[in-house]
Amino acid sequence: MNPDTRAKVEAWLRYFEDLGLAPFYSDRASLELPAPAPVRVDPRVRQSAWAVPHPLTAVHAPAVMPVKQAPSLFEVLDRVEGDTLERVRADLGDCTRCRLCKQRNTIVFGVGNPQADIMFVGEGPGAEEDAQGIPFVGRAGQLLTQMVEAMGLRREDVYIANVIKCRPPENRTPEKDEIATCSPFLLRQIDVIRPKVLVALGACAAQTLLASAVSITRIRGQWYDYRGIHMLPTYHPAYLLRNPYAKPDAWRDLQKVMAVLGLKKPLKQM
Ligand code: URA
Repeated sequence: MNPDTRAKVEAWLRYFEDLGLAPFYSDRASLELPAPAPVRVDPRVRQSAWAVPHPLTAVHAPAVMPVKQAPSLFEVLDRVEGDTLERVRADLGDCTRCRLCKQRNTIVFGVGNPQADIMFVGEGPGAEEDAQGIPFVGRAGQLLTQMVEAMGLRREDVYIANVIKCRPPENRTPEKDEIATCSPFLLRQIDVIRPKVLVALGACAAQTLLASAVSITRIRGQWYDYRGIHMLPTYHPAYLLRNPYAKPDAWRDLQKVMAVLGLKKPLKQM
């Protein structure tokens, strides 16, 4: 849609929203999920190396929390018919849409299985990712890989991407306008992959997907509906490196993901 038309439609929708006539369109799936039976966890199973042992015995079915606002007509219009990851990458191009292009070495698009059941979403590339062009390959990335493996999966089985594709200087938190400019590419990646579960790693990813400034400690470990996809926010691996005592919570969150996907815990320690 061209910017003029978009602005007109936007003004029109705001006007009707002000009149209390929104939302116009909602495509989310029913939030009434069948309740799977609690998953028993084999007590002989040992915790993986990355997780601090936690006396967890059962994981229960998710209660999905609806995201407060329905997708607006804009989001629906933003969906690209017949989209592919190749097309998203091509549209991103050699991006100069925001100031982050000035200092980046590489655009870090995403990596993994395009048909993955699980997609992890982080914040943005760090130094190592910027050098290699691959998300989560630094220290936090190594921890994420261990977390994935603790779930009985390989990195290649999942898809990993970030909210922003270019490294912010000194790894600072991305600015709002940078997120607004870059996140449509993430949303298109999600729409193409349509994973069964989205794991939002840390506040930036969770807040972007929920379109809300909620604190990660308040929302982690709870299920949300993101355009009909189960979405679970948990701690960012970089936070877990700084706060290892939060690892049991994160591990418990990942076990909820495993329960929903019917994954069995690996019997061997990683
Ligand atoms: N942190 C992120 O959020 N993403 C990466 O790719 C690396 C570190």
